[in-house]
Amino acid sequence: MLASLGLGYAPSVNFIRPVCIFVIAALGIESGAAADQTIVLKAMRMFDGKSKTLVQNGVVIVQGNKIVDAGSNLPVPDGARMIDLGDATLSPGFMDAHTHLTSDYSGNYNELRLKRLELNVSEMAYNAIPWARATIEAGFTTVRDVGSRITNSHDFPDVSLRNAINRGIIAGPRMLVATHGIGATGGHFDPTDGFRDFLFGREPDFTDGIADGPDEIRKAVRFEVKNSADVIKAAVSGGVLSLADEVDTPQFTSAEMTALVDESHRLRKKIAVHCHGDQAAREAIEAGVDSIEHGSFMKPETLTLMKQKGTFLTPTLMAAEYIMSKIDSYPLALQAKAKAATAARSEMFRNAVKIGVKISFGTDAAVFPHGQNAKEFKLMVDLGMTPIDALRSATSIDAELFGIAQKVGTLEKGKLADIIAMPGDPTADITATERVSFVMKEGRVVRNGPAAPSASATSATDDVTLPAD
Ligand SMILES: [Zn+2]
Repeated sequence: MLASLGLGYAPSVNFIRPVCIFVIAALGIESGAAADQTIVLKAMRMFDGKSKTLVQNGVVIVQGNKIVDAGSNLPVPDGARMIDLGDATLSPGFMDAHTHLTSDYSGNYNELRLKRLELNVSEMAYNAIPWARATIEAGFTTVRDVGSRITNSHDFPDVSLRNAINRGIIAGPRMLVATHGIGATGGHFDPTDGFRDFLFGREPDFTDGIADGPDEIRKAVRFEVKNSADVIKAAVSGGVLSLADEVDTPQFTSAEMTALVDESHRLRKKIAVHCHGDQAAREAIEAGVDSIEHGSFMKPETLTLMKQKGTFLTPTLMAAEYIMSKIDSYPLALQAKAKAATAARSEMFRNAVKIGVKISFGTDAAVFPHGQNAKEFKLMVDLGMTPIDALRSATSIDAELFGIAQKVGTLEKGKLADIIAMPGDPTADITATERVSFVMKEGRVVRNGPAAPSASATSATDDVTLPAD
């Protein structure tokens, strides 16, 4: 309600700077500088977020929360505070198009399934604090949170987390949140899937994100926007970590898909769809969705259609990688789905690179422990993407998908000062992205040197939402 009146901290894309320096200092975050102090960042190299090559002797000049200049060998203004990062590469802060920051389903599947029925909503929200910190300390200054649902609760922990970060109460990335995410009865997002019928006393409805038919889908979109969603997420095919669906079956009719896209775009929200199956992906792309999340089984013809329509692909390679690393711990039905999706996704990704589909960096963090997002870069490069294109994917291309390219995503005059540095040259060794050593968000230094011990991405057994892979 506050957001709709313009009074609260919950507008669609919130760039409000942290307001409480004392709170930030207490959290161990360097408070940065007075609003008008000039900070000069220097490093041996600079990636500007969009170019095909690195610049040598990179310099970024920051004043307040903005970049006032960026380039090679720029003169240092008088009185500026200099931070020389040496043999490192400056880059715009990384972005991740697909996270679930208020969840952790990296532990044992069955234990987490029970745990999420036990915890209080407020306890789940507190659990997210170290996950948000681990994410920004890893260099991710903006993320989309594409779904955070609590079985038999209507709370919105992702909205709360976003607002707490924007207020400077806790450390974390700028968040664009999807609230519950929308899906069909019995589909990948149905929170009662796999449980005894009516165990929770009622069938989920649009207030849980479960909607059937074009009118109900429009209502679900409106309900989520009313509750402060920045982006709409829907599951249009089955998924891996859900018990009642096949991984690749379509879950919306074309009329439902059209209503979903039309209503989201009327309300000026991007629509991201979870989709593994080829048929569902084709129908979603034709309907005009903004991004396909996962896309495991997409055929070359479907990828060509994506290229023509300008649809983004968020591959989330890390999700499959992590699940496969401990495949024996999942229920048998899920093991089969995970194996099939993983077997298909490598060829799909190679084809997407060849065809020239716009690839938006996204990981599905929560399926694996938060803070390990950058491991996605190496997986992308191993499957045929050039290192510089992988870096562009996590900066300017994500900013374009998120609709915030005018504010972030490149190191250019006038952009918000979201700046990171990593040791060495990431175009020579892409795993440098996993060793980010400096993080600035909106002109404030979040980290310079080793990560805080508390930011280590511990994998708790405290799940707060349904699996969304
Ligand atoms: Zn997900």
